[in-house]
Order: sequence, then structure tokens, then C-alpha cells
Amino acid sequence: MSSTFLSTAIEYLKGAGPMRADLLKKELDIFTFGDLLQHYPFRYVDRSKFYKINEITNDGVYVQIRGVITDIQIEGVKQKRRLKAWFKDDTGGIELVWFQGIKWVYEMLQMNTEYIIFGKPTLFNNTYNLVHPEIERSNDAQVNTLVKFMPVYNTTELLKARGLESKQLGKLLRTLFTEQKHFSIPENLPAPMLQQFQLISREEAFRKIHFPSGAEDIAAATKRLKFEELFLLQIKLNLLKLNRHEANKGYVFDKVGNNFNGFYTEKLPFELTNAQKRVVKEIRNDMRLGKQMNRLLQGDVGSGKTLVALLCMLIALDNGCQAALMAPTEILASQHFQSLSQLLEGMPVKVQLLTGSTRTAARKKILESLENGELHILIGTHALIEDEVKFKKLGLAVIDEQHRFGVAQRGRLWNKYPDIKPHVLVMTATPIPRTLAMTVYGDLDLSIIDELPAGRKAIATYHRYDNTRYKVYEFMKKEIAKGRQVYVVYPLIEESAKLDLKNLMDGYDMIEKAFPRPDYRISIVHGKLSIKEKDLGMDLFVKNETQIMVATTVIEVGVNVPNASIMIIENAERFGLSQLHQLRGRVGRGAEQSYCILMTSHKVSREGKIRIETLCRTNDGFEIADMDLKLRGPGDLQGTRQSGVLDLKLSDIARDQELVKSTRYAAQQLLDIDASLQKPENKPLLEYLRQNHKGTNWSKIA
Ligand code: ADP
Ligand code: MG
Repeated sequence: MSSTFLSTAIEYLKGAGPMRADLLKKELDIFTFGDLLQHYPFRYVDRSKFYKINEITNDGVYVQIRGVITDIQIEGVKQKRRLKAWFKDDTGGIELVWFQGIKWVYEMLQMNTEYIIFGKPTLFNNTYNLVHPEIERSNDAQVNTLVKFMPVYNTTELLKARGLESKQLGKLLRTLFTEQKHFSIPENLPAPMLQQFQLISREEAFRKIHFPSGAEDIAAATKRLKFEELFLLQIKLNLLKLNRHEANKGYVFDKVGNNFNGFYTEKLPFELTNAQKRVVKEIRNDMRLGKQMNRLLQGDVGSGKTLVALLCMLIALDNGCQAALMAPTEILASQHFQSLSQLLEGMPVKVQLLTGSTRTAARKKILESLENGELHILIGTHALIEDEVKFKKLGLAVIDEQHRFGVAQRGRLWNKYPDIKPHVLVMTATPIPRTLAMTVYGDLDLSIIDELPAGRKAIATYHRYDNTRYKVYEFMKKEIAKGRQVYVVYPLIEESAKLDLKNLMDGYDMIEKAFPRPDYRISIVHGKLSIKEKDLGMDLFVKNETQIMVATTVIEVGVNVPNASIMIIENAERFGLSQLHQLRGRVGRGAEQSYCILMTSHKVSREGKIRIETLCRTNDGFEIADMDLKLRGPGDLQGTRQSGVLDLKLSDIARDQELVKSTRYAAQQLLDIDASLQKPENKPLLEYLRQNHKGTNWSKIA
């Protein structure tokens, strides 16, 4: 009964009607009474305060003025037609402008009658202007002058043109609350939770956020509604996770055998870090349970994820399964192949590489041995997801640098195996702020390597201007003389590819002149080269036959040349923070002190400066990710688009980190005790989910 009130179609609201309802649907996604209730004000203005015209400033504040109109004119023709009125009080004048509804406004306005106008002034041609102000005769307007917190709602140009401005939306909401008197808005949070977190009821919160009588009302309503928003998101994500665990059977890897033990005791080139040990244990435990593992392994660049992946693959082998390692680029795949082959030398483990450029004959052999089970580990690019690639028994799929692969692409790797799906370990070096991970990847299990191998020296990062490049070259020469290698990276983006490529080639010429043969050798690698040419350039650099690698961001991901200790990034202001951090991560992999030099011109935007300062200040990927989140908001970060993060109406996961954490904890606790929401106090939540997420298959809450 009561829930049908919220789901009532918006056209049934008095004052909305079919035409306006249509617009509300199209423009603001408001389909029901409930949607309208959740169209929250984005700010409030103080309507008890009146401004004098000479107090107006250019700072975007809404003003309310009392005065009279002394002149009205219609100017221009056709599209350019506009109505201008001169509005005066005892301190000065301001221009009112209308572009729409001109005829109607013209007939309504009266000279020398006192009006109250309200709007946001802008400065134009040295006069203040109010475009499409709200305007009322002074004696009709009495109601407003008592309102200290008048809600301001987002609306659109089209809605405004049809008379649905912020004020009218407010009116609709008022009507809605009047009609609502006979109904109650059901609570969706358990009562103990309201008490524990000191939250007001849902109904009260809706009322107070739209019609607050003071700042405390706004605070209490916002607190409650933000909590609800984030808590429900966490409940959803956690239920999805439980659901997945339930639905997808996985192999039981309960043995640790010769492959793992042999490697661990005889081949491991160094002691694992504590963090590596911990995550290997987490993954091992997870793969024992008979449910498909779906785990995200986060670790900063250089934290040693590859070794963790290898150890886990060996566990798969010990349990009679095969394993796959998928990388986003050919360079990276072949590098993984080389380093794993090396590590496994002398062990009875067969490893192969499969990429787009594997020759037909070799490919045929690989596919055969894959299907008959002779091949144990297959490393490759997205060539691995082709239909013809069939494992005899794929037990573990490791995906490196996950953000390069779409969710659907990943799915293709394991959907070939309808009975038992392989365990999946997704590795990413893009540190995601914890709170973002909790929301974006909240349905995956998470392991974090938060420690670098001992003895790593922090990379020293400096900002240098283009006109001091010769000094940078001097520095490069000194380091090269000590036997080190240098990356010089140029931006190359789709939109300005031609210009960027020219930049890169010019840079290459310049470096060739400054670093002449035969003392110096240079590699060049960029996306416009053939795979063969790229591999050759990369190969020479890996073998230390070239000392300088001029490249685009193709080297951003994963490439490992421990002897390279200098990273020079040209036009550094054009890169995003996490990309800069990724690039910098290509150095600092050996025992030597490494350097990162960010080159820019003197013209750098404010945000560009913050990015560069941040990078110079810290090497901590998580701190950098946090700053990135603050600068860009979650909308631009990898992966947020498919998640619910963008649907958040009130919360901001950068600003509300504490709340993200506490709601996640609260949701997990609740589901730990009552996963199927059967306890009486969880009834409201159960009801709400049933009503609002009909399309979702909550196996847990039948
Ligand atoms: P990433 O996490 O960025 O993929 P890698 O797996 O490429 O890092 O490892 C970076 C470097 O650190 C490699 O040269 C690797 O051999 C080395 N490494 C990995 N684990 C350790 C360790 N526990 N101690 C010392 N060096 C390690
Ligand atoms: Mg890596």
C-alpha cells in the first residue's frame, strides 16, 4: 500500500500532467513519486535576505532584490529576439533579460509596480544582468521572504522553457507531500541500525531535505540519506558476491605438491616479502573452497605480482590443472614468457607463448598440446580468448594489468568452460583508493601487496623546464657512463596523433644529435611501428645494446628492465596522475638509485601543476590514487562506468571515505549474521530490495 505511493507514476501528481510528466521523464529521469523525492536540492538559498543592487558582486551568488521596472524593450529578430527590462532600486539599476516566452513576459510585466526578483547575476558589457529571473509582485511574494533555506533544484534548459524551473519543482514536491499525508513512506533500514548510527527515518529525511527549517535539518537529512545510499550499494555488492560464490563451482585445489614446493625451495631467487607471502596464502585459501575465485590483486608497480602469479599457477599444476597468464600487450606477454621460462628452468613444467604473431605451424602445435594436456602454462595476449584456444583443464586464469581488458573479454576466457569455471586472478598496478575499490570492485575479493621488496630506493622525481634540457642531457650522459639506461617518453594520443608523432620524431632527432654513435645507441618504439620493429627495439634495450629508449606510452605497462634507472617524461603536464606513476614505475626496479624527470614548458595549468607536485613529493601509489580521485572525481577513473558509483546522488566517495568504510562494514556484518534477510528487524530492507531491484537475481534473498 504505502510502497505503491512511491511507485506511482509521476503524471498522477497534481500539477504535473502528461506533458510535464513526459519532460520530467526525458530530462531528469523522474518517472515516479519516489524519483521526484530523490531529486534532491543541490543547494539552498536564503530568501529572507534582500540585496541592494549596489551590493551585487560577480561571485555567482543568488540574489533577491526589491525594486521597480522603469523600461521594457524587445530587441532583435527571430532567434536573436530578446526582451530587456531595466530594474531599479534606490541604489542603482540592473538589466533583466528573457530569450523565451517573450510575448507572455511582455504582457505580464508592469512598469512602476514593486517586484521582487531572484536569480544569479552575471556581468555582461559592464552591467549586471539577470537572465530569466524569477519575478513576482511584491505583495504576492510574502511567503518566500520567511524562507531561510529555499531549495534549489537542478533543471534543464528545456524544462525551464516549459515553466519547470527550480521553483516549480519545489511546488511539485510540496504537492507531493500534501498528498502523501495519507500514506507513509516505508523505512528501508533496520531499526537497530538507525539507532546505532543515529539516523532519522526515511520519511523525515525526505521532508527535511526538501523543506528544512534550519541547517540542522539539512545536516540530519543528508546524513541519513547518504548513509542509506552507500549502505544499499554495499548490500547490493555483497549480495552479488555471495550470489556468485553460490552460483559458480570451482576446482578444489587442496594439494601443495612438487611444483610449488620444488620451486619454492630450489628456484625462488629471493625471499618473498611479507605482503607477497600473505597474498599467496589468501589466494591459496580461496582456491581451496570449491567456489570459483574472482580476486583482484592490487600491488604498486614493482611490488612483485608476477612471482605471486607464478606461485599460484604452480598450485594449479599441483592439482592436475593447467594455467593461463594473459597480458595486454605483446611486449609484455613475451617478457612474462621469458622471465617465467627462466625461473622455471630445469623444472618439469612446460610453458609456451601464444600471441597474434605466433606462426601457424607453431600455433597448431601449441593448441594441440594444450588440448591433450602436455602443455602446463600458456602465456599470451588476448589471442588466448579466441575460440580455438581450448585447454584440457584450465584451473587458473591470471590476467595482468586488468584495466586493459573489458569485463566481457575476460568472461570469454572462462565461459568456454560451462561445468567448472577456472579460478580468476586479476592483477592491477593501478592503485585504486581503498574506498573506490570498495565500491567499484566491491563484488570481487581483494588482495593487496602493500610492500615493496627490501632494498628498493625511492625514485627521486624532479620537475624541469624545456629550456634546461641540455642540463638533463648532461645528467643522462653521466648516468649512461655508469652503465645505466634511460627511457624518454612522449605523449601520443589518438586525437592529436599526427602532431604527437612529429613531436616524437623531432625529439628522436634531437637526441640522436646529442647522443651520437658509436658511443650511444638508441631504440625507438611507438604504436605506428610493426610488431616486429617494436619487438626489435625493445629487445635491443632489454639486452642493453641500446642505452636510450625513445617511446610512447606503449612501455607504460609492465615492462621490466631493471638496469634502466632514468625515466624522462616529455610534456609531462599532458599525462594523468596514475599514468605518470605507471611510467615512473618502469625505473627503480634494480638496486641503483633511479630518477624520474618531468619535462614541461612554462605553461602548465593549475591542475597540471598539482599533478607534477604530487608526483615529485611521493612515490606512494595509494596516495597518488587518492589525489587523482580528488582531482578528477570517480567518473573518470578506470572501471567506474559500469559500477554504481556514478549513480550516487548525495555521496562523494572522495569526500565521504569514512562513510564508505563504515557502511561497508555495517553491510558485511549484517549479511554475516543474516545473509537471507530473514530476521524481523531486517524485513524493511528485504522489502525494499524486493521492490526496487526486481531485475536482480538475489539468490540469497529468495
Ligand atoms: P609488478 O608487481 O610491477 O608486476 P614485477 O612482478 O615485475 O612487479 O616485479 C618487479 C621486480 O621485482 C622484478 O624484477 C622481480 O624479479 C623483483 N622481485 C619480485 N619479488 C621480489 C622480492 N620478494 N624480493 C626482491 N625482488 C623481487
Ligand atoms: Mg607486472
